[in-house]
Amino acid sequence: MRRARANHSIVPDYREMLLDKKREVIASLGAKYQAVAHSGRMSEEDQAQFSIDEFITLRLNHLDYQQLKLVDEALDRLSAGDYGVCLACDEPIPVKRLQAVPWAKHCVSCQEALAPAPVEDASFREMISHMAVR
Ligand SMILES: [Zn+2]
Repeated sequence: MRRARANHSIVPDYREMLLDKKREVIASLGAKYQAVAHSGRMSEEDQAQFSIDEFITLRLNHLDYQQLKLVDEALDRLSAGDYGVCLACDEPIPVKRLQAVPWAKHCVSCQEALAPAPVEDASFREMISHMAVR
C-alpha cells in the first residue's frame, strides 16, 4: 500500500518535511508575537528583564525568519527540480543530510567552510550573559 506512488519512490517526502517545518516555524513565530503582545503591565524589575527577553525574542524571530527563508528556498528548489544539489560544489547532498536537514543548501564540507554560525552564536551568548549580569 505504501508503494502506491511508485513514481515518487526514489525521493523521500522532502516537500512534506519542509512544509511541516514551515508550519512549525510559523507557529513558533505566532506564539512569540502573542507572548510579546500580551506582556502588558509589569513591575520595573520585570521591565528590565523584559528588554532582555524582548531582545532574545527579536533575535530568535530573526532566526525563525532565516529558517523560514531557508525552507522556502528549499521548496523553490524542489519545484525547480534542482533540490538536493550543493549550491557551492554542485555535488549531490547526501540523503542522510537531507533527511536531517531538508532545507540544506550545501553539503557538509561546503557548509563547514561557509558557516560563520558557531562564532556568531558564541558572541550572542556572551552579549546575553553581559546583559543579564550587569
Ligand atoms: Zn558542497
